[in-house]
Amino acid sequence: MGERKRKLSLFDEGPPPAPVVASTAQATINPYTGRPFSQRYFDILEKRKHLPVWQQKKDFLGIMNTHQTLVLVGETGSGKTTQIPQFVVEGGLCQGRKLVACTQPRRVAAMSVSKRVADEMDVTLGEEVGYTIRFEDQSGPKTVLKYLTDGMLLREAMTDPLLERYGVVVIDEAHERTVATDVLFGLLKEVLKNRPSLKAVVMSATLEAEKFQGYFIDAPLMKVPGRLHPVEIFYTQEPERDYLEASIRTVVQIHICEPPGDVLLFLTGEEEIEDACKKVQREIGNLGEQVGEAKVVPLYSTLPPSAQQRIFEAAPPARESGGPVGRKIIISTNIAETSLTIDGIVYVIDPGFAKQKVYNPRIRVESLLVSPISRASAHQRAGRAGRTQPGKCFRLYTEASFKKDLQEQTYPEMLRSNLSTVVLQLKKLGIDDLVHFDFMDPPAPETLMRALELLNYLGALDDEGNLTSVGQLMSEFPLDPQLAKMLVASPQFKCSNEILSITAMLSVPNCFMRPREAQKMADEAKARFAHIDGDHLTYLNVYHAYKQNSEDSQWCWEHFINTRAMKSADSVRNQLTRICQRHNISLVSTDFNSKDYYVNIRKALTAGFFMQVAHLERTGHYLTVKDNQMVYQHPSTGLDHKPEWVLYNEFVLTSKNYIRILSDVKGEWLVDIAPHYYDLSNFPQCEARRVLERLYMKKERGFS
Ligand code: ADP
Ligand code: MG
Repeated sequence: MGERKRKLSLFDEGPPPAPVVASTAQATINPYTGRPFSQRYFDILEKRKHLPVWQQKKDFLGIMNTHQTLVLVGETGSGKTTQIPQFVVEGGLCQGRKLVACTQPRRVAAMSVSKRVADEMDVTLGEEVGYTIRFEDQSGPKTVLKYLTDGMLLREAMTDPLLERYGVVVIDEAHERTVATDVLFGLLKEVLKNRPSLKAVVMSATLEAEKFQGYFIDAPLMKVPGRLHPVEIFYTQEPERDYLEASIRTVVQIHICEPPGDVLLFLTGEEEIEDACKKVQREIGNLGEQVGEAKVVPLYSTLPPSAQQRIFEAAPPARESGGPVGRKIIISTNIAETSLTIDGIVYVIDPGFAKQKVYNPRIRVESLLVSPISRASAHQRAGRAGRTQPGKCFRLYTEASFKKDLQEQTYPEMLRSNLSTVVLQLKKLGIDDLVHFDFMDPPAPETLMRALELLNYLGALDDEGNLTSVGQLMSEFPLDPQLAKMLVASPQFKCSNEILSITAMLSVPNCFMRPREAQKMADEAKARFAHIDGDHLTYLNVYHAYKQNSEDSQWCWEHFINTRAMKSADSVRNQLTRICQRHNISLVSTDFNSKDYYVNIRKALTAGFFMQVAHLERTGHYLTVKDNQMVYQHPSTGLDHKPEWVLYNEFVLTSKNYIRILSDVKGEWLVDIAPHYYDLSNFPQCEARRVLERLYMKKERGFS
């Protein structure tokens, strides 16, 4: 990384510093708005003063004044995420008109916490306090404190390699060890050497603190004393056959039998959580007035912000004085493990699973799999029960299993992910020697090799591993390399307008709604959008129909289309369009009446996804090209036939290997558009190969 050419700035100069609040307690005028503080400000301030970090404000500022880097660890809920960045702002630690950045691995946390901090500072979200997540920027010229995902800060580093906009960078939730956080560590370490005025705080739950300290050489360690109440742990006697059923049973039991206190149940994903919410609500409803009222609240990342806020609402009151108490029951993904603190939880139910990324470089498949959590995770989960009073944690597995089946720590994501996106970013950052990059835990050589290979096939890197002009262009888009390649290549196929729409649709949550009680109607509605050549074109149909119907939410509702997904797709499309315009990528379409309209779009898909194609064997099964994995069409596909070659957007590993979001493509296009990948000198013996041989022969004879 030392090879990089860059501007060295030892002194960060700029306009005068942001206003400093001398003593929050006495101030009555908000220095940011010039208006008196609201009553709510003072109410929240009282609560803030009781947070464990509040006692350490002076010590913290003292250390920060004399050191460049600080590692801070503290129990979840001690006030790290909400308070520390405010201390930094108030303490005037940023010189010049520089911002404070606070990174979060999760978008939800960035959104929710920035909202809270805006309330705490009595300012409007998006002005003095803001957030930035992929495809959404809620910050502006007045912003002094910005929460952003670790991935976004990494992206900003691509245009601002010395992070010169920032005076202090806080890397939060460091223990999560996401790929982006790990790469930021390496970058930050280097930038800190070159910018003595930059300061960094690395914050983490009580895990691996010494490791961070060792990595950031000489960084002092500050521990926020925990204020955790004891949590009694219960295990099951026998392994549970069905953790979902056991979870629901346990929630209902707690509601019937246990004294007041809210419940937090950890499940693995949106669908499971929504399903569990309904079941719990129904079972508790069936018990009638003999039990208190229950407010069941889901929490997962794709939930709209207003719905996420519900986790902070109070539990319902007792139906009558002295009657059975009301209870808040939160059913959440791992988000509630350390990212978001919910007060008032007394009972935690931990089935022992979470969705985790796994990557198999041999067959180049990355997937989210429901897998057992680590003991460190189990410990964090249990801790959620002891925030406000002694609590109980019900582990839905045996003690023996906890001791012998669960691994000690979760492996860093770097060791179990497809790294092609991150390698492209590193190359763009000028880091050519990936092997000697200062990774806290270096990725497996095979994984790095796979990433380099993919980028080379996509034309982003040349044979020496240097970024090409196509690669430069691709790295401008906040998209996976295949999608970026498809977009960059689309003008050649005269369909960049359409590819923009498809890319936008693929970048937002699924737009098709399928409520349990109306599945048949939803499927019929979906079928009306279906395109005979595949799901990508179906998405295009939906997007076009949405626009033709004036983006009407009533229309969406009638057609089982998720309005929110469509709105985000539209906004994503606008942003991608602006990037295209900035880089002179022409926005073109084929004449809609031409027979080539859809063919051109499918060819552009092929230009990005030629490595994700399966061939139909004579046995009737699909095998992925080159890797020869047997795969099945996902039941959600609208394809009503089995094309000889099928291009897929995703490989989903569940009980079977599924491929999802499919399009019919032609063998001729594969040998035309990606001859370097469909190169017979480097192609295993198989049925697909024999078909390709014939196609090449035909091509030589002058077919085009
Ligand atoms: P840590 O980062 O140490 O886990 P946080 O700073 O996230 O702690 O949380 C500190 C306190 O702020 C907690 O008591 C939490 O419940 C409260 N809090 C955070 N966000 C909100 C919110 N949106 N509404 C109400 N309380 C919140
Ligand atoms: Mg936090």
